Amino acid sequence: MTLSPEITTSRLGSDVTIENLSVSYGDFTALRDVDLHVPAGTTTALVGESGSGKSTLALAASRLLPAGARITAGSVRVGDVDLTTFSGEALREARGRTAAYLAQDASAALNPVIRVGHQIAEVHRVRNGADRAQADRLARQGLADVGIADPDRVARLYPHALSGGMRQRALIAMALAFHPRLLIADEPTTALDVTVQAEILGLISRLQQEYGLTVIWITHDMSVVAEIADHVAVLYGGRLAEHTDVLTLFEKARHPYTQALLRCFQNGRAAQPKEPFITIAGSPPVGGVPSGCPFHTRCGQADARCRTDLPEPRRLSAGHVAACHRLEETR
Ligand code: SF4
Repeated sequence: MTLSPEITTSRLGSDVTIENLSVSYGDFTALRDVDLHVPAGTTTALVGESGSGKSTLALAASRLLPAGARITAGSVRVGDVDLTTFSGEALREARGRTAAYLAQDASAALNPVIRVGHQIAEVHRVRNGADRAQADRLARQGLADVGIADPDRVARLYPHALSGGMRQRALIAMALAFHPRLLIADEPTTALDVTVQAEILGLISRLQQEYGLTVIWITHDMSVVAEIADHVAVLYGGRLAEHTDVLTLFEKARHPYTQALLRCFQNGRAAQPKEPFITIAGSPPVGGVPSGCPFHTRCGQADARCRTDLPEPRRLSAGHVAACHRLEETR
């Protein structure tokens, strides 16, 4: 399988640097003071339960926050472009040049009444200035690049005629048509069966290597993290709990929340039928984060200070950061 020469002539990925990023929905602070660096050409997985802030972080990083949400502080730099400095048409232009978003639900992301090939061709026409014939050819080539065996036929189909895996491949082809420097993948394999999920993970890994893409991948699935991530950022209550490389995460996680997530994952893999699954007691905060450490209401190691003082991220080694008062005791 070969990739479109128009794309493979250059490596696409850029460093992504998020500094001090805070996001609010009205009075509710969904994300607070998050720092994250994603080196060019690598994948960082954003991990956490519902309400952890991982989707908010990804949407803020691509400036696709829904109405009612706003960035209240911080910056998001993709290469040398700070996306937080743009608004209106200038933002659409800047975002089109930097970030592409791969949605979880491909059937909702594709227009149901427009043929798949035409939707991809439109990106090449509008974004890349291709004429109609070039755009149609690039759309079919894009479908071939993402592993669709008969792109001429598939390009003429409407989204409903495609399987879930083929729709997700078509969406990937459309995302790549933007030539993004950052690809944000929002649990794009969650709705797929295990075999198709493995194919899509393999496809994104291959595309990433060949294009040099920088990827932020949102997931709650640690097996996906093990498969695709170079680095992992664990979020809880809108704060960064831990950030490290993937090997360190699985072998030497230090934050009690990360350790609890890993216990759940390891137990889920090893559990015999009818054995109860290990879970994290309690629920993530909804509608407001408690004072002190956001995790203190569910943490077995919480002490009095955890209930009042917010732990700041501490550097444990090169590239390994965790925000907990009791890191000396979590080895
Ligand atoms: Fe648990 Fe305290 Fe560490 Fe928070 S700061 S994770 S409550 S030990």
